[in-house]
Amino acid sequence: MNATHTMSHQILDGKATSLQIEEELAEAVQERQAQGLKAPHLAAVLVGDNPASRAYVGHKVKACERVGFESTLVECPADITEEALLEVVHDLNGNDGVDGYIVQLPLPDHIDAQRVLEAVLPAKDVDGFHPINAGKMSLDLPCFLPATPMGIMSLLERNGIETSGKHAVILGRSSIVGTPMALLLRRNGNPGNCTVTVCHSRTQGLAEHTRRADILVAAIGRAHFVTEDMVKDGAVVIDVGINRIPDASKRSGHRLTGDIDFDQVAPKCSWITPVPGGVGPMTIASLMQNTLIACTNNDA
Ligand code: NAP
Repeated sequence: MNATHTMSHQILDGKATSLQIEEELAEAVQERQAQGLKAPHLAAVLVGDNPASRAYVGHKVKACERVGFESTLVECPADITEEALLEVVHDLNGNDGVDGYIVQLPLPDHIDAQRVLEAVLPAKDVDGFHPINAGKMSLDLPCFLPATPMGIMSLLERNGIETSGKHAVILGRSSIVGTPMALLLRRNGNPGNCTVTVCHSRTQGLAEHTRRADILVAAIGRAHFVTEDMVKDGAVVIDVGINRIPDASKRSGHRLTGDIDFDQVAPKCSWITPVPGGVGPMTIASLMQNTLIACTNNDA
């Protein structure tokens, strides 16, 4: 047996960590109410009937219920015009009762998603997708951070994982995951102070990069893409991917899996996130934290 396979890995439990955050959020709501302040209110705009989008929005609404936030689901038909959707966004911008809101992506092809995201008031942009928030993030100014990388930073911090001086390799450069993840990990802060490599579909010799990672974040959307030979012994491995693969044993005929071949890779890691139960719940917890911030900003 290869000695590298004897390392005992620990599960970076996003579910458990997200429950801690939810407890803190519920306490904050109670304290607000004791002071006669309103509960935070999150709205979500869902366009069409994409089952995955509906499920994600449903998780967010349920999380609001658990912590005592108000929530509103704004459902729009798949054939809504761009102008009509912009009206919905403008209404939410002007609705003083709503502290923050998200427009669930992806949007149908006939809608310019960027135009819609740029219409969201930055002060209510709890997904952190508006260019004002993205720009502030890159300058290390206070802003709403995008929920998935923010959740990963919390997961590292709350589980006492040292990042300073480590080499982080990010697979994927999307504006909602890979790019902000790289910015946050290389920040002068804790967590942060990593030396960061960002890989994408044109990267040559990908495995040579991943094998040098002390912290490996996979956000590409390819089931089981990262195999044992691509990971260094003792690495911290964060699996952002959510991929549907066929599974005849499930009533639905499919199951969700990550970008990491968990069974192969886990024995080599110091820490690894599962899918489900890793990054997903942390993303929702971070969105809720942003909503509380939006709400307290409105108190002033
Ligand atoms: P995306 O916008 O499709 O971006 C994928 C990135 O991966 C792109 O930068 C792409 O490179 C790169 N890529 C694709 N194939 C590659 C390959 N063979 N080798 C190297 N790089 C490759 O996806 P995303 O929105 O960032 O999401 C990524 C995954 O995370 C998806 O599975 C998504 O469902 C999941 N996700 C999960 C959460 C959560 O809460 N857990 C949140 C958001 C997303 P190019 O730029 O060159 O095309």
